[in-house]
Amino acid sequence: MSGQSKKAFGILFLLIWGGEASLLGGQDYDLERRRMVAFQLAGRDITDARVLGAMGRVPRHLFVNPVFRDRAYDDHPLPIEEGQTISQPYIVAFMTQSLSLRAGEKVLEIGTGSGYQAAVLACLTDRVYSIEIHCALAEKADRLLRRLGYEVRVRCGDGYHGWPEEAPFDAMMITSAAKLVPEPLLDQLRDGGRLVMPLEGAFGRQVLVLVTKTRGRPVVRRLLDVRFVPMTGEVESRNKRKK
Ligand code: SAH
Repeated sequence: MSGQSKKAFGILFLLIWGGEASLLGGQDYDLERRRMVAFQLAGRDITDARVLGAMGRVPRHLFVNPVFRDRAYDDHPLPIEEGQTISQPYIVAFMTQSLSLRAGEKVLEIGTGSGYQAAVLACLTDRVYSIEIHCALAEKADRLLRRLGYEVRVRCGDGYHGWPEEAPFDAMMITSAAKLVPEPLLDQLRDGGRLVMPLEGAFGRQVLVLVTKTRGRPVVRRLLDVRFVPMTGEVESRNKRKK
């Protein structure tokens, strides 16, 4: 091999090796997200094309703690600040699908956390409201959602009391578990409106339920066994009184 071709070979080797290294080092989040949608969601029982579309668009890796970024699209929940968690992608999609949201409907989320679920909801309607009890989480999620261009109104406070100034809501989602459906939330749900939440029963067992307000009364349908962080604030003292 001549000196010239040895040099060319060397450069070619470096280019290929460098390319491989950057592929191994830097992750392809779009590809991971497509895989997540195909295997964890469409491969199970998520059939709503709008929900699949939303899950395929929201950059989940930007909502998780940077330490866990390379596991953002894995099939499980991940820790966020304040001892809370961002739900497993499948649960986010399942809860969203169960609300059957139509564009233009007004939805209230209790438990903003990282803001990820709120971003998914914002892909389906432009009237998303979200309340978070930890002000540090609320502020962080609000900043991120704005930066990414999601139209979500975030407020820090106890979601037990809902958002009376904005009621009635067409749909609600509570992303923490309680032993009862907060009364003020039911009041702020329009008749025919839907609410999805994890309800805690005996021995700490949690079931995801879909509550439909029918002629002023809640009609409850059980959907799935789940594991969520507990709802805190006012509902805790009411939980205790219920025991
Ligand atoms: N939806 C979130 C998941 C958050 S975990 C996401 O996509 O990342 C549940 C969240 O509910 C936690 O952030 C917790 O602080 C919040 N929470 C618990 N009790 C609450 C209450 N009473 N009002 C508002 N938020 C509450």
